[in-house]
Amino acid sequence: MTSNYYGDIFAQRPQLPRPERVLAIGAHFDDVEFGSGATLARWSRQGTRIKLVVMTDGSKGTWDPSQDGHALAQIRRTEQEAAARVIGEEVEVTALNWIDGELTHSQRTIAQIVSEIRGFKPEVVISHDPWKRYRLHPDHRHCGQITVDAVVAARDPHFYRELGPHHRPNSILLFEPDQVNYVQEIDATDINKKVEALLSHRSQHQTSMEDRSGESDLHAMTYSFASRIGEEFGLKLGEPFHLIDDV
Ligand SMILES: [Zn+2]
Repeated sequence: MTSNYYGDIFAQRPQLPRPERVLAIGAHFDDVEFGSGATLARWSRQGTRIKLVVMTDGSKGTWDPSQDGHALAQIRRTEQEAAARVIGEEVEVTALNWIDGELTHSQRTIAQIVSEIRGFKPEVVISHDPWKRYRLHPDHRHCGQITVDAVVAARDPHFYRELGPHHRPNSILLFEPDQVNYVQEIDATDINKKVEALLSHRSQHQTSMEDRSGESDLHAMTYSFASRIGEEFGLKLGEPFHLIDDV
């Protein structure tokens, strides 16, 4: 670990106090659960209000060339509702329905997330890490960039004045981070919920889960990852992020 003028920006930070409200933004149905499902399940159990925003319609989430995209989008929306209920009873879901694979970083998409932040007033905003090196999927890169730019715009009263009073979240947690500086402590119950939420996305079993590991292995794989990352940061089980807390 190196220190410099800016401090040790990649050292583990103290555990965040449980937020009252969290806004989690993913490019596709299931991204948020993969990246932060255990953390969200934990905070939800402890009383945090959570809102999930999914930017695209998920219409291309299949390797079957004959699958109808419109039908798939409907299925995935229903699966997302089921996954949200696993994460917590009161978890809300909003889908912005941009075409899967064609999400762009634009004033329009930033304004949509500014509106979500100002409306829901989260203390913590969660999304993809837009600075993760060698990330291939453009929707993931764009979603992360839209989110961090929207946090900046939402906190400033002169940006997007038509979208209501400004709101400044305390922190941003970026999942699948390029550099980990925050590992949220989680437990076995949180992992069970994360896996159950992921398995609620039944249409994705082949593309994102079964192919890498059998359905029954998803739990073992998730647990072993949480254990490995936790151990590295002095916890029994953990979920990794890059925390930005100077918002
Ligand atoms: Zn995705």
